[in-house]
Amino acid sequence: MNNRPSISERMQKLRNSFTASIATRMVHTRALIDSLQLEPPPSEAEELTALNQLHHAFHSIKGNAASFGFDEMSDQARIAEAMIIARLETASALDDFNIELLYSICDFIEFSPIATAHVPQLTSPLMRMNEKSPQEKPPHTEQRKLVYLCDDEIEIISDLETQLNSFGYQLRTFTSHDTLDVAISEKMPDAIVMDIVFPDGECAGITWVKTFHHSYGHTIPIIYISGRDDFSARLKAVQSGGSAYCLKPFKPTLLLEALDNLTHHEIREPLKVMIVDDEADIARYHAMILEEAGILTTIVTQPHLVIERLGDFIPDLVLMDLYMPECSGTEMAQLLRQIPGHVSLPIVYLSSETDNRRQFIAMGAGADGFLTKPIDPPMLVQEIQLRGERMRILHSLMVRDSLTGLLNHTTIKNLLDNELNNARRRKSSLCFAMFDIDHFKQVNDTYGHPMGDQVILALSRLLQRRIRGSDAVGRYGGEEFALILTDVDTHNAERICNQLRIDFAQMTYVCDDLEFSCTLSGGLALFPQWRTAHRITDAADKALYRAKHNGRNRIEILTPEADELN
Ligand code: GH3
Ligand code: MG
Ligand code: MG
Repeated sequence: MNNRPSISERMQKLRNSFTASIATRMVHTRALIDSLQLEPPPSEAEELTALNQLHHAFHSIKGNAASFGFDEMSDQARIAEAMIIARLETASALDDFNIELLYSICDFIEFSPIATAHVPQLTSPLMRMNEKSPQEKPPHTEQRKLVYLCDDEIEIISDLETQLNSFGYQLRTFTSHDTLDVAISEKMPDAIVMDIVFPDGECAGITWVKTFHHSYGHTIPIIYISGRDDFSARLKAVQSGGSAYCLKPFKPTLLLEALDNLTHHEIREPLKVMIVDDEADIARYHAMILEEAGILTTIVTQPHLVIERLGDFIPDLVLMDLYMPECSGTEMAQLLRQIPGHVSLPIVYLSSETDNRRQFIAMGAGADGFLTKPIDPPMLVQEIQLRGERMRILHSLMVRDSLTGLLNHTTIKNLLDNELNNARRRKSSLCFAMFDIDHFKQVNDTYGHPMGDQVILALSRLLQRRIRGSDAVGRYGGEEFALILTDVDTHNAERICNQLRIDFAQMTYVCDDLEFSCTLSGGLALFPQWRTAHRITDAADKALYRAKHNGRNRIEILTPEADELN
């Protein structure tokens, strides 16, 4: 069942809408040209305004016409645009400016036969691959993904199994290639994690992978884990077809991220792109191309609405037109860069501006790329996918703590500001909680730092699993964690945190046959009792200090009244 109009039908609709707009556009354009030769002559300022509007008018025809396959119309508009730019830049006398030519270009644009237009190639193998609608995709199996790991030093991986397990992977480990080969012949895994250095050779892992690819093709993602950080080893890994490279001692979260990226394609969130273009038709056209490839889009035709919409849509990337009447793309990019939350928002221009110098100036505003219209649809999709994915990875490295994958200190603090604003607006409540593992130094001293890391990871997972989607958890410092619980009253906040405390205390760890467990202390403070981010973090910190002081393994809440008593 598919009632959606086909892509060519929708394309045709957009082209019709564009051609239907031409007559009105030309009435407007001719009026602008008229205004240049009024008697008495227009003031300098009036002339400048008219020229700028003319530039925009022809520029837009140039881009639209080319995108919809009207090449000759686009060429004519390009000539007119160049004349106007020359006029704007050199301020030559009006006499040198061929007004008649502008009028005849207007006539050409309006009356030239448009039936001859070629239809741009919309589909390509790349896009067809993505054309499946969500229902047609193979059903997502809840089965654990099978991962084979081969490393001669098995102690490195002893803790990994439980960790991968809790993230939905089934791990089987092998210390030699022979045993791995046997397992592969019985059941092919979803991914292979391979060490590089083995007793029988500096690059024995890579040699094995080459043989594997030779026999089975490049069907299974290979992730290398290696203590070698040199160029030569990394290059050989890439040449042998390795998809990821994790350095030892490797962070389990990095390995998990690599596994997720390589084996969970179908459940990754689609990329989100905001298209900013004053021309609704061309914006819809680009949106359509991206949507066909499974990318979510939203269109903003009025620059002054961009900031508000950014807050609702939260795109991975903004595709920005360069010439818009209200404000230019360059100005929009600069404006966004001055807002702390959008400093790193990827901005890619999509414009029919082909002048290198102008492109260069536009890029100076802090944009991440420049694509020129008309753009080949598969090319647009590929560019957006590449940049979007890269920005996602960078973003996640920026906001996440590398050991636990939780939000890092800066991010959780920024989030607290946001959530407090939301709570103020919605007149709801919020709890900020700080947890700190008790006597953690002793854990490190007794069982070693790597074991300490395991405890930190165990608590991270517990917190991550147990909070609701609307809540947030971050690693505040070494063995300190911060939680933001929204819409909770004092009673519920205390109950939730106490349950977390009890559950954490019940987890046990084994180190050299010695079993041990840990406890935590927590300090809570709530909005609206505490009204600013500074006050609420300060109060939670004091409450945590009290919990430690009052014997640890307990949760304390600080209210302003209780604080005043001290
Ligand atoms: P208290 O109950 O008062 O909180 O005592 P404590 O020992 O937990 O507190 P203290 O602040 O004295 O020690 C915290 C220790 O946490 C010191 C530091 O070496 C260790 N630590 C911090 N970050 C990490 C980490 O990422 N991994 C490991 N293993 N240890 C860490
Ligand atoms: Mg080894
Ligand atoms: Mg501690």
